Amino acid sequence: MYHPSDESLWDKPLFNDALLADHKHDYVKKDKKYDMQRKDSCIICGIINKDEAIEGFEVCRTDRFILYLNLYPYTNAHLLISPIEHIIAYEDLSDEDLLSLSILTKKAIKVLKHNGHTDSLNIGWNQGAIAGGSIKHFHIHLVPRYFNEMNFMEIIARTRPFIRSLEDTLSDLQRYTLYFLGKKSFDDVISSFS
Ligand SMILES: [Zn+2]
Repeated sequence: MYHPSDESLWDKPLFNDALLADHKHDYVKKDKKYDMQRKDSCIICGIINKDEAIEGFEVCRTDRFILYLNLYPYTNAHLLISPIEHIIAYEDLSDEDLLSLSILTKKAIKVLKHNGHTDSLNIGWNQGAIAGGSIKHFHIHLVPRYFNEMNFMEIIARTRPFIRSLEDTLSDLQRYTLYFLGKKSFDDVISSFS
């Protein structure tokens, strides 16, 4: 059984354990070159650069930002947005980037609400080690919240079952790529779904 909380490469999950429904999540190789404190071994840069040492779950990317699934999701379709450039802090983003990031965040909210049939999300970032920022590459978390997401496993065993794999979730979200990229309206994209 794969236990995300065994790893320290990503932000800690809300719960002690996460029980994944399928067993295809052996996606992070045990490659110690990802020393989180070193710019040249940044795990997010690894995902962006498609490093073979880590399997990233990229939804899509614009010229300046990448949308990808968190390898250690708090909930299903836990999405992250990062600048493609290795920028550590929010305030280091240019004004132009901040506008692009805001627009992309708005689109991601719309997509996650539609995809997850929910109107609730937690959105934000942890900046600095004391605040829980474990990776020195800026990333916004978008965590969809679902009705009845707490079940007996979480209450009794503090373990969260995931009913959809990251691969399937990735396919779900990639259906919205043309909307993310500004090439189609949201309504045009969702009307193409079967
Ligand atoms: Zn980086």
